[in-house]
Amino acid sequence: MSINLARRSLFRRKDQDNVVRLPWLKADLDFTDKCTRCGDCSKACPEQIIIVGDGGFPEIDFSVSECNFCKECVNHCKEDLFDLTQAQAWDNKAAISISCLNNESVYCRSCAESCESEALKFNFTSTTFVSPDVVLDDCNGCGACVSVCPVNAIAVKLNR
Ligand code: SF4
Ligand code: SF4
Ligand code: SF4
Repeated sequence: MSINLARRSLFRRKDQDNVVRLPWLKADLDFTDKCTRCGDCSKACPEQIIIVGDGGFPEIDFSVSECNFCKECVNHCKEDLFDLTQAQAWDNKAAISISCLNNESVYCRSCAESCESEALKFNFTSTTFVSPDVVLDDCNGCGACVSVCPVNAIAVKLNR
């Protein structure tokens, strides 16, 4: 295998992990084959959440801010990567880990308070210390809940 092919297959593996790419990418797009790494999307993003990731390819970093779905990244990209006719910008959803403070009996609702879609629900039973459930149909993967979590218990990633 050539070095280029080996690098591409490495990036593809990474793509299949938890890297969040840009919104409205075409379905079944081989992103690392088509993106020229020009950085135009990153410069255009008002939230500054598009960072230079592995191999120089853009990826989303929700630890900085959220996606407001403004489409500036799409509008500034010169390549044929996007399909704005798709009903959803992406299939990313929030996932809550075991590190949620409520699991340590510390009251916290920060993520739910930041979620405009009201996709984070608390299922109260015998205790007030419950970690949130993600209502997947309501979560648009905006990432607003990520940076507000004091213990980094939330990841937004492809929902498979
Ligand atoms: S849609 Fe707007 S906020 Fe979201 S990644 Fe693109 S430029 Fe940034
Ligand atoms: S990613 Fe956005 S819509 Fe989904 S739970 Fe977090 S704040 Fe709510
Ligand atoms: S912000 Fe973090 S610690 Fe607080 S309830 Fe949400 S997941 Fe738990």
